[in-house]
Formats: sequence, C-alpha cells, structure tokens
Amino acid sequence: MNWVIIGLLGLILGSFFNVCIWRIPRGQSISYPPSHCPRCKKRIRAYDNIPIISYLILRGRCRDCHQPISLRYPLIEAITALLFLLSYFRFGFDWQLVRVLVFISLLIVLAGIDFDHKILPVELSFAGLTVGLVTALIPMFQMPIKEAFWGAVIGAGFVFFAWALWRFVLVRPFSRMGVKQKEAMGWGDLPFAAMIGVFVGGKGMIVALAVAVVTGVLFGLAGRIGGRLKKGQEVPFGPFLALGGVVGLFAGREILDWYLKLVMP
Ligand SMILES: [Zn+2]
Repeated sequence: MNWVIIGLLGLILGSFFNVCIWRIPRGQSISYPPSHCPRCKKRIRAYDNIPIISYLILRGRCRDCHQPISLRYPLIEAITALLFLLSYFRFGFDWQLVRVLVFISLLIVLAGIDFDHKILPVELSFAGLTVGLVTALIPMFQMPIKEAFWGAVIGAGFVFFAWALWRFVLVRPFSRMGVKQKEAMGWGDLPFAAMIGVFVGGKGMIVALAVAVVTGVLFGLAGRIGGRLKKGQEVPFGPFLALGGVVGLFAGREILDWYLKLVMP
C-alpha cells in the first residue's frame, strides 16, 4: 500500500507546486493567503481544491466566475504523482527515495517557473545544490560524494562552455547574419545544471545534458517550422534540462553504458 501513499503525496504536493510556480516569481508568500482564483480572486473552497478530481467535476471552470482554469494545474498534479510513483518503483521505500523526491519537486517547480517567466530563481537551485551535496555525504542516501561532485562540475561546466562558445565564437558570425546579439543561456541555468548534477551524478548528468540539448533543439526547430515560434523568440532551456534530469535520474547509467557499448564495441 506504500505506493498509494506516495501517489497521493505526489498529487497533494503537485497542487502545492502549482502555487509555488505562480507565486515565487511574483515575490508572494507560498503559504498565505489561501488558494484563490487568479481571475475573480474568490477563495477556493476546500472541496474544490482536490487535485485533478475537482478540475474534472468543475469541468475546468471556476465555480464562481466560470472562467476556464488552466489545464496546467491538473497536468502538474498528474506529472508530479507519476514521477513520484516511478521513483518509488525504481528506488524503493527507502532513504534514497526521500532524496529523489526532493529532487523531482525542485525540477517541477523550477521548470514551471522558467517555462512561464524565463527565469530560474538561483535561491532554489542553491538550496537544492546544498541538499544534494549534504545528502551525498551521508551513506544511507546512496549517492557517493565523488559522483555528486562530478555531476555538478559537468553540469556547470557545460553551461559555462556553451555560454563562452556563444559569447566569444558564435556571436560575431551570427550578428553579421543579422541575428540579434543575445545571451545563449541565462545565468540561472548554471546553478540549476549544477544542482541536477549533484542529484544524478556524473554519468547521469552526461545523459541529462544530451537529452536536454537534443529535445531543446528539436522543439526549437519544430516550433520554427510550424510557425509557432517567431524569429528571435527565446525558448527557456530549464524545462529541457529538467526533462534531461529525470531521464538521467532513472536511467542515466544504463543509457550511457548502452551508448558506449554501441560506439566502442
Ligand atoms: Zn474565478
């Protein structure tokens, strides 16, 4: 029955993460005032605040003003619950799971904020980095400090390298071609990548970066070709890093070993 508890925890926390994603970048308290409709400001009744179920019962509309509620809310709740369950089945009911769930939670909140506002609050990344490093020093969390250290170095190193490559090599030819000069990555990506690294380790981070770059580029190309992205429109990299972090967490080692066997039989 442990899985039921973990799944419910995911739903409830997912609901809380929606609040965090909305309020943290606006500088509002995450505990007060209680949840209210962002449109009509009416307080949400307890029985209308049940993850996913309330959304279905209310058919995606506020009970008071009947304005549509974003599909994002039930979606974040479902994704959180799903990732919590996957973590439980992958890592077991163990101290390691606590560490993993903290990581998943930070990924969801940070990716959500970056998606909406194109910022990755450094306070959150540094808090996660600290938790990741401290737990790597305690054996029961099953992440060797050496692994965590290399994960952070690879993550931060990649972001720094990508920034330097853009700033010192690519900016000139691109601006000659008429592409506006702008930062390839925000500074928030650096501590965020380092934080992912301490949680997934060195091998996991290599896979996380590969997944982030490939999915990010594919998304950018698809958006441009499909006409949904305008020329010069920025795409936040955080959600792709978060996706990579999830893949790196669950199967980083396996994917890297498989890949190495493929290229070096
Ligand atoms: Zn309303």
